[in-house]
Amino acid sequence: MQLIVLGSGAGGPFQGRNYTAHLLKSGSETFLIDCGEGTQHQLYHYRVKYDGVAQIFISHLHGDHVYGLMGLITSFCLKRRTDPLTIYGPAGLRELVETISRISGVWYPYELSVVEVDTTVHAKVFESKHNEVWSIPLHHRTLCTGWLFKEKPRPDNILPEKIEEYQIPFSAIPAIKSGGDYTLPNGTIVPHGELTVPAKAPRSYAFCSDTAPSEEVARCVAGVSLLYHEATFTNEHHEEAAYSGHSTAEQAADIARQAGAEKLLLGHISSRYRDTEQHLLEAKAVFERVGMVTEGGEYEV
Ligand SMILES: [Zn+2]
Ligand SMILES: [Zn+2]
Repeated sequence: MQLIVLGSGAGGPFQGRNYTAHLLKSGSETFLIDCGEGTQHQLYHYRVKYDGVAQIFISHLHGDHVYGLMGLITSFCLKRRTDPLTIYGPAGLRELVETISRISGVWYPYELSVVEVDTTVHAKVFESKHNEVWSIPLHHRTLCTGWLFKEKPRPDNILPEKIEEYQIPFSAIPAIKSGGDYTLPNGTIVPHGELTVPAKAPRSYAFCSDTAPSEEVARCVAGVSLLYHEATFTNEHHEEAAYSGHSTAEQAADIARQAGAEKLLLGHISSRYRDTEQHLLEAKAVFERVGMVTEGGEYEV
């Protein structure tokens, strides 16, 4: 999995920070997560290929997470897109898309679907051959959901030299990869473990913005490979974080600690902060493996 961060800010587009949008590549699939104003410009600026995006996941309908969506999906019309596109998000998303499309007179040459998800449950909302996407209930001032992207476990890899050594026919390979032994024509059984090496462990990415700190989030993302958690404020403004439904960097770090995440990425920084040193300092005191997203930053999950 590879993550590209297209925007790291909250509030206004100040301090060189754009609005939230993440692009996640997992195998042959590319997912767009949130689509704040200017996302198209960022995709173009960083020369990110995104025509293959077939699913867009919107956390909530605040402008800094969704005002770039209509521009993006109508640009697909100009590009004569024909591949279907599905947008997942909270209740209200369909009305937003349908209303603006109607008022602006947009006709889509591709199949456009909107799936409204229940933001109060941790449930599987999308599944393909290699990936799953689950909702994560978040606590914000409006209906809001995070997204957990999980690679599915892959079958073991069969060793080419063993195929040759035992003259294993092609037809027998799928059963061996799924855990079976191989029986030679003379009746000897060659154990699965001698024929294969385990596939890479599946990776996972959790996107949690915007939200007050929540133990439920920590439970939903337990053991995640990479956790992105909003950290709008530093401890100095923890009261503002509480009443606006946001988190401090320290609170985000505590969620990562509770979840046993491998790594934590912070973002959605309030425009009042010129730099993010204090955020990192306060987070590191709780969870060591933490970094701050950067505009156009690429991260191996
Ligand atoms: Zn918000
Ligand atoms: Zn926001």
